[in-house]
Amino acid sequence: MAALTTCPYCGVGCGVKVTVDQNPESGLATLEGDESHPANFGRLCVKGSNLSDTLVHDDRLLAPQINGHQVEWHEAVDHIADKIKQVVAKYGPDSFAFYLSGQILTEDYYVANKFAKGFIGTANVDTNSRLCMASAVVGYKRAFGSDTVPCNYEDLELCDLLIMVGSNAAWTHPILFQRIAAAKEKRPEMKVVVIDPRATATCDIADLHLAIEPGSDAAIFNFLLAESERKGVVDQTYVKKFTKGYSDALKQAKKQCGSLEKTAQYCGLSTDDLSQLAAWWCETDKTISFYSQGVNQSSSGVDKCNAIINCHLATARIGKEGMGPFSITGQPNAMGGREVGGLANQLAAHMDFATPNAIELVQRFWQAPNMATENGLKAVDMFKAVEEGKVKVLWIMSTNPMVSLPDTAQVQRALEKCEMVIVSDCKQHTDTTPFADVLLPALPWSEKDGTVTNSERRISRQRGLLPPRGEAKPDWWSICQVAGTMGYQSGFSYRGVDDIFREHAALSEFENNGKRDFDIGYFSDITEDEYNQLLPIQWPVTRHKPHGTARMFTDGKFFTPDQKANFIPIKVKKPVTGQSKEWPFILNTGRVRDQWHTMTRTGDAAILSRHTDQPYVEIHPDDAAELDIQNHALVSVFSAYGETRLRAKLSTQVRRKALFVPIHWTKQFANQPIVSSLIPQVVDALSGQPESKHAVVNVKTI
Ligand code: SF4
Repeated sequence: MAALTTCPYCGVGCGVKVTVDQNPESGLATLEGDESHPANFGRLCVKGSNLSDTLVHDDRLLAPQINGHQVEWHEAVDHIADKIKQVVAKYGPDSFAFYLSGQILTEDYYVANKFAKGFIGTANVDTNSRLCMASAVVGYKRAFGSDTVPCNYEDLELCDLLIMVGSNAAWTHPILFQRIAAAKEKRPEMKVVVIDPRATATCDIADLHLAIEPGSDAAIFNFLLAESERKGVVDQTYVKKFTKGYSDALKQAKKQCGSLEKTAQYCGLSTDDLSQLAAWWCETDKTISFYSQGVNQSSSGVDKCNAIINCHLATARIGKEGMGPFSITGQPNAMGGREVGGLANQLAAHMDFATPNAIELVQRFWQAPNMATENGLKAVDMFKAVEEGKVKVLWIMSTNPMVSLPDTAQVQRALEKCEMVIVSDCKQHTDTTPFADVLLPALPWSEKDGTVTNSERRISRQRGLLPPRGEAKPDWWSICQVAGTMGYQSGFSYRGVDDIFREHAALSEFENNGKRDFDIGYFSDITEDEYNQLLPIQWPVTRHKPHGTARMFTDGKFFTPDQKANFIPIKVKKPVTGQSKEWPFILNTGRVRDQWHTMTRTGDAAILSRHTDQPYVEIHPDDAAELDIQNHALVSVFSAYGETRLRAKLSTQVRRKALFVPIHWTKQFANQPIVSSLIPQVVDALSGQPESKHAVVNVKTI
């Protein structure tokens, strides 16, 4: 019989229909897209279609290990619980930290967040989602008073103008891109603009590609704001009634970006191209701005998000069909983690430490003995604190920071220095597992059970289809075991994953009075059967809106204290590191079509290597000629932080003095230092998100 689940890769969150082999030990008999799922209506991209080939059989971590020796679960749990108790007693609660992942399920996130923030007493709970969408979160919160994505996927098909900023959706969110491409084919008059320094596959459907100077995105949107005023398309009634701060934002936008010529020059564009965008913007009501890592992974990522949102608020293009500022998350459950508060600057259920009465409310709900009272350490700062000896026990769950965090050498020093590194993973060997003192066997996709939330706020079930292998356990279960051993049985005695979901839903509506954006209170008394049958649904799902919510802010009311949205004046800034004679190239990083993150899964499927079988560096032919670099030659790419060797790929898709390197290949797969070893730990001051799309480097022949 067919079972429905959700793809574990990107933030599109496609539904997958599978049948299990008669002998479930051998795997999945069939796998196809779920026609009933509103994200994909039956389609799957090549990664999703080949999930069966990535089920972890080889190199599976099947039992707990302490210092390389196999142990029983109870021994590993005692060992961890003793160490946490010891360091917390001696150094305080902030000597413990969780580093989680947008791959884990919402229920795992909920339990980790509760354990750290309510029972250990530290907010050191951060996640690799920090590398993906943290700037978008802060941007939304500054504007709306809440981390709320206003739009949905259908809006992408309904809009008349789609501005795709810093997103190569054709490769990173393929099914969403296919939906957009199909809509454009049906309505060729629908305009698509791509704003990206590179000419990516996404440009194939673009009416206009603005190959901007890296990092100059905010200037374009400041210009559009100024232009909206000049052309009389600002909705003054909406601005007056539902927003505040417009005149300051406009003043700042005009100051730096009031002139077409100056803005075009700053962004490295022709005045014709910029004025074409402005003309389409001013004449098209149904406009979506679709943005992703190219905007977020920046030292001014939050400002870029708010520059985009300002334009939508000014023209009242939000909360209506085919309109809005739409941040697309990279990971399958980056949104679910945010919902439970799985970031160091969140408390729980979309509440912050600064939310009035929130700490006391959550403490009462959790019956928590040791509440954290202030923000914890964001990812990059967390690993700095580990190296400084401030964090003594670090529990890493379902992520590979030795590959994904910037400045790999620093991450390695931190892991080597840490008194106890716990790694929960389904694989025995990743670039991070050699640094683990304790390894805990986790469940991979197809064995784990819970919920995820995609980029359009849609909660879907990821279902356990195959029996767990060896001694592998759910992540929430291992946390509960440690918490119970530390004496916190009553807060962590869940009978199943549905218990956790119910509690998570109940907290979302607890003394809420309808004032919280993230409210799924309708599920507070969901039964186990109902949970197992749960169909994809968009939050909020309240007692008044049991069928979910397709669009937010339809009534012009936001989640700020006065219910008005905030304009944020945006001062355009250059990236922190600038080119020089020593470092003349800007390094940009991103994905290839058929690989996922650090290839721990997709690297197992031979078919997924056909598209791109090895790492490479894209370089403009004119730069290559100056340096005598031939196509396919092995070159050294180096920065002040590290060096790696890659095949040169001569391409006019990159600008002069720009390089592009994919993020996926690790030491394991390429036997070379990884690209993040070249990137400094420069972050956005507000979001803590690293500037992974802009490092200055040099390149030479070997
Ligand atoms: Fe999976 Fe994303 Fe592909 Fe959908 S688009 S099948 S969620 S990788």
